[in-house]
Amino acid sequence: MQTADRAAAAYLGLAIGDALGSTVEFMTPREIAAKFGTHDTLCGGGWLHLKPGHVTDDTTMSLALGEAILAEGCVDALAAARAFDAWMRAKPVDIGNTVRRNLLHFRKTGNPEAPYSDHDAGNGAAMRVLPVALATLGQNEDEVRKANAAQAHTTHNCALSDAACGCLIFMVQDALRGTSKNELLHKYAHPLAARFPEFRFRAVKQSANPSGYVADTLRAVFQSFFDTDDFRGCLIDVVNRGGDADTTGAIAGMLAGAMYGMEEIPEAWLKKLDSATASACAMQARALIQLRK
Ligand code: MN
Ligand code: MN
Repeated sequence: MQTADRAAAAYLGLAIGDALGSTVEFMTPREIAAKFGTHDTLCGGGWLHLKPGHVTDDTTMSLALGEAILAEGCVDALAAARAFDAWMRAKPVDIGNTVRRNLLHFRKTGNPEAPYSDHDAGNGAAMRVLPVALATLGQNEDEVRKANAAQAHTTHNCALSDAACGCLIFMVQDALRGTSKNELLHKYAHPLAARFPEFRFRAVKQSANPSGYVADTLRAVFQSFFDTDDFRGCLIDVVNRGGDADTTGAIAGMLAGAMYGMEEIPEAWLKKLDSATASACAMQARALIQLRK
């Protein structure tokens, strides 16, 4: 399987996971089961009352960032902050508190780096790492971490968020090269949990109702990603945990897309995904992996 195919699947997977999860965001697994049995269609609705196949900030912030990267030819902090600020001005359907607060700080100061805070450990920077992962494919670890800091610190300047972002980026990049899931587990997921016990996802109870705290998010994503064997199964498992389901869906969809490729993405989900979103994701995936050449 080609890297380009996996990159497109990662971006479409992100959008599909976001659209699928948005229907059940902030519901508990019990509420989801009562209403849907198993939630497994892109039927829209949810607290945002979305049309079927429509996406939220997880996808639209990623696309805003990807556009800025393509315009600059690299990941640039000021360009990212401006892109996010323009995105906020366009009245997105949803926006995280930390994102809003620190973008308002940027408007006031012109400084694209938010003040450091251990409290800003939400998943808002981790949900939009994909364009960085694609644009920095082939660069060394230091360059990749610097590129991510440029985008992440516009809103989340926090060690735990940085660790999560780095882990996700390296997992996606290795998956794009065809690395096995078992290798990703031992090379990235376990070491992250060893360094930061907050991320432990084994020998702890199954994550239900994950919050927007980045460690909660990654625990749910890792349990679903490593305990299922295909794209569909992974996404259904993670969004039916409820909680911040659009974001766990988006991140799991990105990983599962990179791992399993386009062939594994269910036709019904691809068809339902908003067509403007789908073409933007496919276009950016192609363009971003070309940047390094
Ligand atoms: Mn969202
Ligand atoms: Mn969310």
